Amino acid sequence: DGDKRLLFQITRFGQGEHLMIVRDITRIYKLEQMRKDFVANVSHELRTPLTVIRGYVETLSMTPEMPPVWEKALGQMEQQGQRMTALINDLIALSKLETDSSDHDQLPVKLQPLLSTIKSDAEALSGDKSHQITLNCDNQLALLGNEKELHSAISNLVFNAVKYSPEGANVDIQVSEDNQHIRIAVIDNGNGIDPIHLPRLTERFYRVDSSRTSATGGTGLGLAIVKHVLLRHKGQLEIESKLGKGSQFTCVFPVSRKA
Ligand code: ADP
Repeated sequence: DGDKRLLFQITRFGQGEHLMIVRDITRIYKLEQMRKDFVANVSHELRTPLTVIRGYVETLSMTPEMPPVWEKALGQMEQQGQRMTALINDLIALSKLETDSSDHDQLPVKLQPLLSTIKSDAEALSGDKSHQITLNCDNQLALLGNEKELHSAISNLVFNAVKYSPEGANVDIQVSEDNQHIRIAVIDNGNGIDPIHLPRLTERFYRVDSSRTSATGGTGLGLAIVKHVLLRHKGQLEIESKLGKGSQFTCVFPVSRKA
């Protein structure tokens, strides 16, 4: 039956004996599908009215000689409008990653130019805070995958390293390979994360300190996006961190992804 979803679990025990459990997960699968469609539709529907509202806020901001209280209110509206746009864009990106799996690109993506662009964008984000960002990557190394997705995953990690570390901190982007893996590591000597948070860090909207992070303008969806992109590239995210010392986020790809 084409509409049925079955989950087969096979466990080996003893000598040559196997236990097979077949579960009918059709209902769970359909509910999950409905959830994904709902999120995708809602985020698309919210985008248009928000664009209109932000447009009017911009027009009103050009009014000459406004009372200071209006000016302040319009500034707040613009700032919150920007946050909402970022949130909606991340939600749309995430639901796209969840839904279209079949036509996933498998083109060679050269890492050096990709990481170099991300490094420059991160330097711009850092601005006056002048983080020291370094990049080490073999010029020839390329991965099979989707360039846009890899860009979004790695830039999330590098931007986080900048956002969650103080002025002048170091951020290293290091690429290495051995017989089995290609690793892209983003290392910072910034705030670090208490180990109790690590298992939940890639969950949607999970944030270590929501009061502090709302000031940094994040959406809480960045690491969920990273995790999904890596899954689609048969990779994994490894996180190591020490509170007050810094963090290392490593994207680990099987060597079979090497182009
Ligand atoms: P956000 O939009 O809040 O940055 P993310 O999903 O990208 O969302 O990250 C989730 C949380 O993980 C962040 O709110 C922050 O608390 C923590 N985090 C992520 N990267 C780092 C880092 N390099 N150093 C310290 N904390 C980090």
